[in-house]
Amino acid sequence: MTQAFTIDGKAIAAKVRADVAKVVARLKAEQGITPGLAVVLLGEDPASKVYVRNKAAQTVEVGMESFEHKLSEETSEATLLELVAKLNADPAVHGILVQMPLPKHINSAKVLESVDPAKDVDGFHPMNVGRLSIGEPALAPCTPVGSIILARSVKDDLTGLNAVVVGRSNIVGKPMVQLLLRENCTVTVAHSRTRDLPGVVRGADLVVAAIGKPEFVQGDWIKPGAIVIDVGINRIMKPDGKNKLVGDVAFADAAKVARAITPVPGGVGPMTIACLLKNTVDAALMQNGLPPQAS
Ligand code: NDP
Repeated sequence: MTQAFTIDGKAIAAKVRADVAKVVARLKAEQGITPGLAVVLLGEDPASKVYVRNKAAQTVEVGMESFEHKLSEETSEATLLELVAKLNADPAVHGILVQMPLPKHINSAKVLESVDPAKDVDGFHPMNVGRLSIGEPALAPCTPVGSIILARSVKDDLTGLNAVVVGRSNIVGKPMVQLLLRENCTVTVAHSRTRDLPGVVRGADLVVAAIGKPEFVQGDWIKPGAIVIDVGINRIMKPDGKNKLVGDVAFADAAKVARAITPVPGGVGPMTIACLLKNTVDAALMQNGLPPQAS
């Protein structure tokens, strides 16, 4: 048995950012356009603050403009909607991201729907969800977009593969299904009510795990030679009391069977922000009547 190849999400994310930086430089030089990303954060959630800081730093690194809007936890829904309307109308802003989760007094769906679909770089607006599902060009959610790039780094043409997505959330599982269909995979989507999940996963040439349960997918569920994309990020306590990040797949055992597998951390994680930047530059291109980057 050969050990799986570990897919280097950090290196691939760096390549995505480098490609984005090239397009940004071209847009500036040839069209006088500097793509801009506005990020709106409500409250003091430490994880969200770190995430927003990383997004802003990477946005600037690729040559784009970063607009940060930090509002208090008590901000009213009306004030937030007013800010989104301003950003929708601002020609310097090509992408808008409202950091989730929002405080409980705010209707998240209403806020997401208030973002101009052309600037919806998270790909959560129903218009983009619909366009993706009917195969029209759309801004698609960043984590699934990144997962596809990782799978294609192993096998450029995914046509005809049996892909199993475990998880059916709106932000990962469902858009992942649509993107895999676009790649001509035969797609099965599994969830908490699926019968014989191990048997379903054993039929997969490509497994995408987006469950949120530490090391849930076992090594003996993996078909020999399969590609495994582990989206899960779970913090567990080791016997020595220290925290550790693990995915939704039992990595060491799965790596004994798979052809290629993403690690956690360092797999899908770094791709999410890189694909946010990619979506922002694509949004800027499309808003100026230019075709998006090839995916
Ligand atoms: P959700 O909690 O929204 O969805 C989890 C899905 O897993 C649901 O569809 C659920 O099924 C399914 N599920 C739960 N238990 C089981 C089970 N026992 N057997 C089969 N399916 C099950 O999570 P998300 O999609 O938001 O996130 C999934 C994971 O990905 C999390 O670990 C999250 O942290 C991570 N994540 C990572 C990102 C990154 O950048 N790398 C970005 C986003 C998420 P049902 O619908 O039936 O309840």
